[in-house]
Amino acid sequence: MVMDLNKCIGCQTCTVACKTLWTRREGMEHMLWNTVNTQPGTGTPHHFEQMGGGFKDGKAQPGIRPTVEDFGKAWEFNHEEVFNGGKNDISLAADGGKYGKGPNWDEDQGDGQFPNSHYFYMPRICNHCTHPACLEACPRKAISKREEDGIVLIDEDRCKGYRFCQEACPYKKIYYNEQEGVSQKCIFCFPRIDEGVTTACSRQCPGRVRFVGYLDDPEGPIWKLVHKWKVALPLHSEYGTEPNVFYVPPLSPPKIDDEGNPTEEPRIPTEYLEYLFGDRVKEALETVRIEREKSKRGEESELMDLLIARKWLDMFGPFQN
Ligand code: SF4
Ligand code: SF4
Repeated sequence: MVMDLNKCIGCQTCTVACKTLWTRREGMEHMLWNTVNTQPGTGTPHHFEQMGGGFKDGKAQPGIRPTVEDFGKAWEFNHEEVFNGGKNDISLAADGGKYGKGPNWDEDQGDGQFPNSHYFYMPRICNHCTHPACLEACPRKAISKREEDGIVLIDEDRCKGYRFCQEACPYKKIYYNEQEGVSQKCIFCFPRIDEGVTTACSRQCPGRVRFVGYLDDPEGPIWKLVHKWKVALPLHSEYGTEPNVFYVPPLSPPKIDDEGNPTEEPRIPTEYLEYLFGDRVKEALETVRIEREKSKRGEESELMDLLIARKWLDMFGPFQN
């Protein structure tokens, strides 16, 4: 999957599409296999970037297991007081988490001081990594990667709930179902993929943010964005798992100087984008900028046509049913 961060509006339609389709069983209440976070921010689970896991120089790194609270419990509201206690205002219940951590608690806070305040949205799913730390950590061999398309799946019959996978995944994209005693995660909508239908998150996205296809298909959108145009980059590739979800980094308006004039610097600091997506960020942003200018001048640009997604279904490669 490639996600174009220039187009995400943070509407959470993808989150809801996934939630209603896959995580409605008991014990799954806290699970959002798809999350969309305001960046810069702490992410979901909170501070996942500091929780370890993954590989360094090929060696597995220790990681910690996120708690349900880290993922953000659903808030509780004072419905009882309103329906039966004569109170008029719906608000968080007294123990409603004390403004506890919701799944996107940093919503729209971002960083920087006016007029240089900034933020963008970053959706995340399991990256269906080429070298999945979760798979390697499982002593039950309950996690596998499908030969035909690389989707990483947990066999819930084999899983005994040891949760080593949760510790090992550096993206913290595995949830634990306390009711069923098993680990669960994004399945890349494989029953849909098997029918030639793209994932629910990509199909429902009103921003046309998400491209789906095979990384080795030169006719498809993923190969073109990742390999041909080199504008889509993996998140935290230093974690060593070779993620298969890629991001087109966000362009931003110019930083304003003390006199109120626009500068050459982008408002979203390049260093922050490099922290997320590595040292090819500048090159990727420059390519998008150059092609955007071409397009403005009325010249042809395959990249702009792709990113704008004029033909919506073309975003989904072979999964257009
Ligand atoms: Fe496993 Fe985490 Fe990679 Fe998903 S993102 S395949 S859970 S290591
Ligand atoms: Fe909305 Fe699409 Fe962004 Fe999800 S990826 S929050 S559906 S715009």
